[in-house]
Amino acid sequence: MQDFDVIVIGAGAAGLFCAGIAGQRRLRVLVLDHSEKVAEKVRISGGGRANFTNRDIDVRQPHKHFLSENPNFCRSALSRYTPADFIELVQKHGIAFHEKHKGQLFCDRSAEDLIQMLLRECEAGGVQRWQPCAVKGVRVSGESTYEIDTDRGTVTSRTVVIATGGLSIPKIGATDFGYRIARQFGLRLVEPRPGLVPLTFDGDGWVPYANLAGLALPVQIETGGHVSPHAPPLRGSLPPEGTPSALGRPGGKRKNLVTFHEDLLFTHRGLSGPAILQISSYWRDDTPIRLNLAPDVNLTEALARAKVTSRKLLANELASVVPSRLADAWVQQDADWQRPVAEATDKALARLAERLSRWEITPTGCEGYKKAEVTLGGVDTRDLSSQTMESKQAGLYFIGEVVDVTGWLGGYNFQWAWSSAHACACAIPL
Ligand SMILES: Cc1cc2nc3c(=O)[nH]c(=O)nc-3n(C[C@H](O)[C@H](O)[C@H](O)COP(=O)(O)OP(=O)(O)OC[C@H]3O[C@@H](n4cnc5c(N)ncnc54)[C@H](O)[C@@H]3O)c2cc1C
Repeated sequence: MQDFDVIVIGAGAAGLFCAGIAGQRRLRVLVLDHSEKVAEKVRISGGGRANFTNRDIDVRQPHKHFLSENPNFCRSALSRYTPADFIELVQKHGIAFHEKHKGQLFCDRSAEDLIQMLLRECEAGGVQRWQPCAVKGVRVSGESTYEIDTDRGTVTSRTVVIATGGLSIPKIGATDFGYRIARQFGLRLVEPRPGLVPLTFDGDGWVPYANLAGLALPVQIETGGHVSPHAPPLRGSLPPEGTPSALGRPGGKRKNLVTFHEDLLFTHRGLSGPAILQISSYWRDDTPIRLNLAPDVNLTEALARAKVTSRKLLANELASVVPSRLADAWVQQDADWQRPVAEATDKALARLAERLSRWEITPTGCEGYKKAEVTLGGVDTRDLSSQTMESKQAGLYFIGEVVDVTGWLGGYNFQWAWSSAHACACAIPL
């Protein structure tokens, strides 16, 4: 039976990073993964260029960009291994990168560069990697030794790190392994659900928009925030992007409101694009989302002005503020909108402005784990140390996406993988 100081299960972002650091601390490390290919999710991330971190992470206020039952849990790890630390490593390996927008950093060439960097770091630490290697079971033997049955035999270690990620994209190897191990050792779980995922809309209500597939435009999108009849109107004041607590308004009128300014994409099955992916992590079944399709314009004023100055059809007038395909489809919804703007009633114009800047629709569902970029929920942080990622079960650690910490779209999830892996790798006793 081969013995190691650390056995890491999962050769993805968090697992490889943790293994490299632990190995370089002179611990004897084995990484196991049931997939044939290493770090497949890194390979497909960021459209093949891996959005590997985000410069805008505010480590003092992690609740701004991370979802968790305890959003402060990630603060310690994130502040001890920051985006700047990871950028330094990327630079040390000579990987060229660029900032796309909102602090998002991508490899210039390919995500493959990042995988090679992680593998070189493992090599520098003398890490052994067995792949593909299925793990059949984990058990404790004696006081402090773990025995792991694999299809290459049984291996032992005093420390086990679970880095098997979440349930997203099962076709490249995602499993519920981490959750099963957590349950086996009596740890609590926060119910997993798909995050950063396209939302679907079925039935008659979606018919007017079904032909818009492929259309993209910038929008303001929001969910949550039960609107009381006395709440102030949305139009005119764009709240900053942020999390529920940041946006709860005084008097409890629009509590838990979450808003993003991002691009929206119409698809054959519903809506996608960064705006939808971001809001999907906050969306709850049977609740509506609200969209302002012309967020940079005061539509009420613009249409009132056009009424006295323009001879155009309403659809053509609208096409100056939203894409013309959308304008054409939109006016089909109301006979009063299919005429020259000068002939439209004030009421019809007001209705149009309201409908476009406060489009409220209720998704029928989401595209599920086959399309979700992340899994929300996971191992309950109440059963983990925020300093070390060790669980209540001594010697058993959880890092990366398997933990109930989920970031926004934009490099936040990889940064959590690096930071939690670093916290764990540095804490494992020599
Ligand atoms: C399409 C897509 C694009 C993304 N783009 C970005 C991006 O640009 N930026 C960003 O920050 N985040 C992105 N993410 C999210 C990011 O990839 C994950 O949050 C991150 O990979 C999580 O790291 P991890 O190590 O916890 O899990 P993973 O990287 O998923 O690694 C888990 C590993 O565990 C292995 N495993 C699973 N079950 C078992 C088992 N039973 N036995 C053995 N091994 C097992 C898997 O094969 C895998 O290798 C994207 C996700 C997707 C799906």
